[in-house]
Amino acid sequence: MRPRPTRLVLLGHPVSHSLSPVFQNAALRAAGIPLTYEACDVAPSDLETLLGGLVRQGAAGNVTAPHKAAVAGACAHLTPVARQVGAVNTFWTENGALIGDNTDAEGFHNAVVHLRGATPSQATIALLGAGGAAAAVLAAVAGWDRCTARVWNRTPERARSLCARFPGVAIPADTTASATAGAALVVHATTVGVTGEAVPIDPDLLPATADVVDLVYRRGETAWVRQARARGLRAVDGLPMLIEQGALAFERWFGEAPDRAAMWTALAG
Ligand code: NAP
Repeated sequence: MRPRPTRLVLLGHPVSHSLSPVFQNAALRAAGIPLTYEACDVAPSDLETLLGGLVRQGAAGNVTAPHKAAVAGACAHLTPVARQVGAVNTFWTENGALIGDNTDAEGFHNAVVHLRGATPSQATIALLGAGGAAAAVLAAVAGWDRCTARVWNRTPERARSLCARFPGVAIPADTTASATAGAALVVHATTVGVTGEAVPIDPDLLPATADVVDLVYRRGETAWVRQARARGLRAVDGLPMLIEQGALAFERWFGEAPDRAAMWTALAG
């Protein structure tokens, strides 16, 4: 059995906007675990030294932008999905070594299954974006039955190199229109809409039967999700994925599922 972490941290830069401490501390309280989940704002130049100290302490935690790839590079061992995604969002310490995992892919999968009521099968997925979150989405799509993704990105070269890492699953698209044509599921994985009312693509241009997943989250939902719903599409923002990736991380650290209802209640407060 994995030793229980002595400390739980979230590594990011900046990190003060993160909702993770709110729902992770609610989960810790609900489970009666006497730890506090701390947000640590760490500059890239300080990351390596901090990680060394965390390993010595037997700490565990999460990683957010911009450190996910750097932490993957610093781990002694990566789970297969973390290697496939090329990024770590969850880590722990075992026998004095840093172990890196990625729960974003399964968190996204769980959010999609909740939205659609089933795992997609033989479906075309449109993916807007080609960063770390998009890689996690492709890792999930790779596990679905005969599904393929068309990937559009503002910088086309980045979409091409991401697709090359998922042969037989992902192909680059030159335009948002060619990505979304006939798609059963449209996933937004850029930073558009994190602040303000900008949308990645006009929902009126999406197939009338498409489901919509916005990885972006904010209190009150994103403008894109609101507009997609107004058009009659099933749509969800990034909050269910955020809670799920956090709940799965909790399971990795403690070997038990957290109280997801307590996590949701904490966010609503
Ligand atoms: P990332 O690796 O930095 O990638 C950023 C992506 O956004 C790239 O595709 C980038 O395109 C694109 N982009 C940035 N500004 C843009 C603009 N003005 N117009 C069009 N595209 C633009 O970030 P990430 O980690 O993949 O995160 C992407 C989003 O997913 C963020 O909003 C993040 O909050 C969200 N996310 C949510 C969850 C969750 O649990 N819900 C988990 C992870 C991430 P270029 O390549 O052209 O720069």
